[in-house]
Amino acid sequence: MNILLIGAPGSGKGSQAAKLIAKKNLKHLSTGELFRKNLKDNTELGQLAKSYIDQGKLVPDQVTNDMVNVFLQNIPLEKGVIFDGFPRNLPQAVALDQMLNETGRALDWVIFLEISDDQVVSRLSGRLWAPQSGCVYHIKNDPPRRAGFCDHSGEELITRSDDKEEVIRSRLKVFHDNSQTLLSYYKKRGLLKRLSAECPPEELFHRILQVLGGS
Ligand code: ADP
Repeated sequence: MNILLIGAPGSGKGSQAAKLIAKKNLKHLSTGELFRKNLKDNTELGQLAKSYIDQGKLVPDQVTNDMVNVFLQNIPLEKGVIFDGFPRNLPQAVALDQMLNETGRALDWVIFLEISDDQVVSRLSGRLWAPQSGCVYHIKNDPPRRAGFCDHSGEELITRSDDKEEVIRSRLKVFHDNSQTLLSYYKKRGLLKRLSAECPPEELFHRILQVLGGS
C-alpha cells in the first residue's frame, strides 16, 4: 500500500503518518524531516536546503526529487510508503510517477487533509518539536506531560525555525500556489479523497483508516 498525504503545513500530515506507520507495515517518507536531518548533520544537502526552508520556499525540485529517488531505492518493494510533503507541485508529481514506475510501485490513495489558513497559523504558532525523536506537540492543544520536554525521548522541545508567523504565511502561499494543480492531477486519476483536518487527531486517524478500507 502506497499512500500520499497532501495538506497545508500544520494540517497533521506528519502526525497522521506516524500513527499509520505504527499500525501498518509502512515506511514514512517526509521530505521535510529528511531536509531537517541533513540540516542537523550539516551535510551539503542540508546547507543547500537551509535558505529555502528558512524563507518558507520550496527546495528546488531537482534536489528534492533526487533525495526521494535515493530514499525509494533503499526501500524493499514489499514495504508500502507514506508520502508526506512530497510531491508538492506538478513537476514533483510527474517525477514521482516516473520513480514509482521504475520501482514497480503505484499509489493507492491520495488523501487531502483540508484546513483553513487561520487554523494553520494557530496550530503552528504553538507547535513544539523534539528534533531527535521527531515527536510534535502543541503548547495548548497537545502539551507534553512534562512542560518543555518530549514524553518519549526526554529531550528539550524547541520551536521549529520555520514556525515563525511570517515564514508560516509564506509556506501557506507556496501551498496555495501549487495545491489546486496537484489535487486535480490526482482527482483525474480517481485517487483523491478529501477529509476535513479540523478535528481531533484521533478522529482524523479513524477517518483515514476508513478510507484505507477500515482496517
Ligand atoms: P510543512 O508541511 O509543515 O511546511 P515540512 O516539514 O513538510 O513542513 O517542510 C518544511 C520545509 O522543507 C518546506 O517549507 C520546504 O522548504 C522544504 N520541503 C519539504 N518538502 C519539500 C518538497 N517536496 N519540495 C521542496 N521543498 C520541500
